[in-house]
Amino acid sequence: MVVVNPPFPPSTSIEVDRTYELPFTRLPHPRYNKKPPVPAYEMIRYSVNIHRGCFGGCSFCAIAAHQGKHVVSRSEKSVLNEIEEIRKLPGFNGVLTDLGGPSANMYSMVGTDLKKCLNCARPSCIWPSVCNNLSTDHSRLTALYRRVREMQGIKKVFIGSGVRYDLLLPSFNRRAGRAENEYLGELLKYHVSGRLKVAPEHTSRHLLDIMRKPSFELYGELKSRFDAFNRREGLKHELVPYFISSHPGSGKLDMARLAIETKKMGLRLEQVQNFTPTPMTLSTTIYYTGTDPYTGKKIEVARTIEEKKMQNSYFFWYDKERAPAIRNDLKQLGRADLADMLLGTARGNTPSFAVANLQIRNIAIEGKAKTQGSRTQRRKSKRTK
Ligand code: SF4
Repeated sequence: MVVVNPPFPPSTSIEVDRTYELPFTRLPHPRYNKKPPVPAYEMIRYSVNIHRGCFGGCSFCAIAAHQGKHVVSRSEKSVLNEIEEIRKLPGFNGVLTDLGGPSANMYSMVGTDLKKCLNCARPSCIWPSVCNNLSTDHSRLTALYRRVREMQGIKKVFIGSGVRYDLLLPSFNRRAGRAENEYLGELLKYHVSGRLKVAPEHTSRHLLDIMRKPSFELYGELKSRFDAFNRREGLKHELVPYFISSHPGSGKLDMARLAIETKKMGLRLEQVQNFTPTPMTLSTTIYYTGTDPYTGKKIEVARTIEEKKMQNSYFFWYDKERAPAIRNDLKQLGRADLADMLLGTARGNTPSFAVANLQIRNIAIEGKAKTQGSRTQRRKSKRTK
């Protein structure tokens, strides 16, 4: 028999404020006094947490299990008080390295009807679409950024937490409007250190569905707006996408598609990681069981070091040392055509752009067919239940 206790109710803002107002020393534990500097401490030393919890529900992330799915925000007064305390710290040079939380932009966002939320079993409030009951208004957050950057003794406020850019795009979040545009402008103009890192995670639709992440097309949309803003403001910021390999459901062909799509966009990836199973997540359940617990469907999982290394290599297709292994791998999979698109033909040519586009369209259609297949499967298994 398994007993599942109901989760502890979310804290109130007053309770969270009280916690943050406790007299923390903001120093590493004294046991580290005679040891080399703690790298994580350097990162968080002058950063401020403005809310707890995350309603994103990404399958690979354990934040909701630790902090809850309901976002609980600190009051503006409590945040400003903490910054006043930071200002008094010896060595503080006026630069806050982060003003964020598990996600940068969920501050003060809650369900408009909280009764509905308390009875809601959706693992994510924003996937596959933004819940009608969720307020995604960014105006309080923008106002907070402005208050903080105008404080005496504060020279710069960076936003180091990950930005959920899907919330800012009307094609995904139909409530996104003027307040979200203003937020993006404030973020890009005052709070980016030169590179804005965002996490589309992958390009394959079926894989993004497993991760509970939105379509990669949204990244393209953000990029257009980002570039337009740079041009208008005379800035030279870079948009840096994060990707993940070997996530359950990811096969080598998915990695080849990712490499080809990002190559086509002129990207040479650097911010990448291999999937690590984290306790209490859906992805980890799939990793160990090879099955999607919601549908009972078998999911491909890369488990050996060799498989994981190979998947990771696709990110670095431009590295001459890795290229032969990628070509060989795709040849063995019967997709020498993809190797030609990614690495050029054996004679040193890359298929012309028109041909490459056509091939990429075909790849997209293959991916779509796979997604539709999985949707049909899900519908079928629902009917079976
Ligand atoms: S009702 Fe909507 S906003 Fe509330 S918890 Fe459920 S999905 Fe999230």
